[in-house]
Amino acid sequence: MIFLKKPHVSSTRVPHYKNTQDCATEKLLSPKSVTILLSQHIGAPAAACVAKGDHVYVGTLVGKAGGFVSANVHSSVSGTVSGLTELVNPMGAHVQAVIIESDGQFTPNPSIAPPEVSDAKSLVAAIAQSGLVGLGGAGFPTHVKLSIPEGANVDTLIVNAAECEPYITSDYREMVEFPERIIGGVCKVRELLGIKRAVIAVEANKPAAIETLRRLSEGKQIEVIKLPSTYPQGAEKVLITNVTGRVVPAGKLPADAGCLVLNTATVSFIHEYLRTGMPLVSKRLTVDGGAVARGCNLMVPIGTPVREVIEAAGGYSGECAKLLMGGPMMGTALASDEFPILKNNNAILALSPEQVGQLKNNPCIRCGRCIEACPMNLSPAEIQTAFERGDVEEMQALGAMNCIECGSCTFVCPAKRTITQIMRLSKGEIRKAASKK
Ligand code: SF4
Ligand code: SF4
Repeated sequence: MIFLKKPHVSSTRVPHYKNTQDCATEKLLSPKSVTILLSQHIGAPAAACVAKGDHVYVGTLVGKAGGFVSANVHSSVSGTVSGLTELVNPMGAHVQAVIIESDGQFTPNPSIAPPEVSDAKSLVAAIAQSGLVGLGGAGFPTHVKLSIPEGANVDTLIVNAAECEPYITSDYREMVEFPERIIGGVCKVRELLGIKRAVIAVEANKPAAIETLRRLSEGKQIEVIKLPSTYPQGAEKVLITNVTGRVVPAGKLPADAGCLVLNTATVSFIHEYLRTGMPLVSKRLTVDGGAVARGCNLMVPIGTPVREVIEAAGGYSGECAKLLMGGPMMGTALASDEFPILKNNNAILALSPEQVGQLKNNPCIRCGRCIEACPMNLSPAEIQTAFERGDVEEMQALGAMNCIECGSCTFVCPAKRTITQIMRLSKGEIRKAASKK
């Protein structure tokens, strides 16, 4: 394999479009009903533990984690369970959901109290109860990340404050509105897990956040570092390399490179959860795009229909050519605005026809730009060729499984080829072949 650069380096310059960075977070209305998916995370779905007619409070457990790599799910409103249903999520998977009619009161569960946490074990147990998943978009259950494997020498906690996706400013608002929660969360996690070094890594295009976090970090042995505003700076493996110079080997985890990486909103939530005991029931998200009347940042009860989120942003201002859950590089296209907000959802973008580029799959001109842009040092052009030939062994040999689906290759391709989609399909083919063995 030819290495054109050090592995795991971000280099693509994407437009930032941080239109909503100065929009203070607004609290969203009271949805009439919420649809709480029992699978909003990586791993096994949760199992419903309420039935039609049950009364629930804000923070009542409605789905119990279905294993270690799974997450509890809680009600985001007070009201009555009107039923359980099955939905098809945007990725095409069938998932169970609990529908709750809100009483409009938002009464917190009276049994909620701050958890007793004094060491790593009790922290992991408490966070497992909270239903926390990575809030940066990945949705990996946080208690699993915090369970540092025995023998692993994790010496660096990195707080991912890059927020490198265009449009999205929800983490930025967390940094400027609640910086003390972030600093408090970092101190707690570092102390309880016994991690020596703590770094908050922020992209250079967020000077106000850098200044605030640096001021609050003084005397607390937390480094706040400024990283270039290149994409995908916030991808876990890229961030580790750019902060520590270490490389996470293919197929390995951050702990194998001595690192624990948590998103800004995730550490902020940990701080608040340890203080109040309120599980994860709401999410800050950016609403923006040329087809929405008013770009804004909203704090939304999980399970609220996207339609109501768009209405809170003034409604559609014109034709919506693409509705995205997440950013334009890694987000998921929604076929309908009836889909509910998920725990790891950090943006809803309603893009106008002018904002949606047309991918055409023109013939590859062998320019090599996709190879240069790939932070994982893959050769997307060669993997495409192997995919078109149906050569699963070659796709695997070329490292397709290491693709982080960042979209950089598609962004730079002059032939407008659907490379990222092909990478996803290639990974699916490799998994399918492995399951038959
Ligand atoms: S989507 Fe995959 S192949 Fe394309 S640049 Fe990102 S990591 Fe590389
Ligand atoms: S960027 Fe597009 S045209 Fe250039 S080598 Fe890659 S796939 Fe081919």
